[in-house]
Amino acid sequence: MGEPGLAQLIDGRALARQLDEETRKGVSDRVALGLAVPGLAVVLVGQDPASEVYVAHKIKACARVGITSYEHRLPAETSQDALLTLIARLNIDSTVHGILVQVPLPAHIDAAVILGAINPAKDVDGFHPVNVGRLSTGTGGLVPCTPLGVMRMLDTIVDDLTGMNAVVIGKSNIVGKPIAMLLLEREATVTVTHIETRGLPEIARQADIIIAAAGAPRLVRGFWVKEGAILIDVGITRLARDGGREQLVGDIAFDEVQHAKAVTPVPGGVGPMTIACLLSNTLKAAQNAEGQLP
Ligand code: NAD
Repeated sequence: MGEPGLAQLIDGRALARQLDEETRKGVSDRVALGLAVPGLAVVLVGQDPASEVYVAHKIKACARVGITSYEHRLPAETSQDALLTLIARLNIDSTVHGILVQVPLPAHIDAAVILGAINPAKDVDGFHPVNVGRLSTGTGGLVPCTPLGVMRMLDTIVDDLTGMNAVVIGKSNIVGKPIAMLLLEREATVTVTHIETRGLPEIARQADIIIAAAGAPRLVRGFWVKEGAILIDVGITRLARDGGREQLVGDIAFDEVQHAKAVTPVPGGVGPMTIACLLSNTLKAAQNAEGQLP
């Protein structure tokens, strides 16, 4: 519990360490049984600086839990066909259980074509239409990492979401929509909002749970939040600070929401959980490879 009068902080770093520990144990149990070490192929096309940082974090995280990573760095001018050829090779490589193509891709490559070419059983980002369909029909599959992390964080605060009012801000395919699907699966009443939504503050004020995934710094103000609400801040905006160092800012005005029940910080909230969920998805994909697909 937090201090009286202060919202409980949901510590994403601590939760990510816990999940990494579970994954590390899952990996070493496999090795003890003589099963393959899970392998994750990470494909980066071009030199987008933010993508470089994300990929470096993911590779380091694999090493932490005993997953083998295979890095494929391709020049920005790589053709779509060449990328498809690489994916086709990774799809049938039995040492690779997970394939992650870092987005955004250069403009001449159609991301939907590339993501759709990944074997759904190795789609650890959960972006393939087959996995999207499975999520929306509640029939298993690999679930996108950030939404998975969000649900694990919620689970530390509340057991039963039945009938709770959840407001999701943002409707992207990788964050807002899958989060809405997961909340529906848990019987919450879900309102999905976006940039064109009218009267967002009033809608947010009805919420027992707010998931902010807009990428709009300090969008959710204190007066948008009812007493005792649970707040998950997915948003990350990099703001240049005086002196040149950048500052990460979330979508929730953290200092104004201490009347909430619980809130995630930025940084140290959803971000670390996303990577931990990528690792657990890779382990899951390796486990599925020995049995039936989910
Ligand atoms: P996106 O740009 O694809 O989608 C943003 C969504 O928010 C859109 O649906 C848009 O309509 C809505 N939106 C934007 N401004 C709004 C406003 N002022 N009011 C209401 N709705 C608004 O972004 P995304 O990929 O879904 O990412 C959203 C945010 O989450 C970004 O800040 C991104 O950096 C962050 N993110 C964080 C993680 C993580 O691991 N923590 C992972 C993925 C994305």
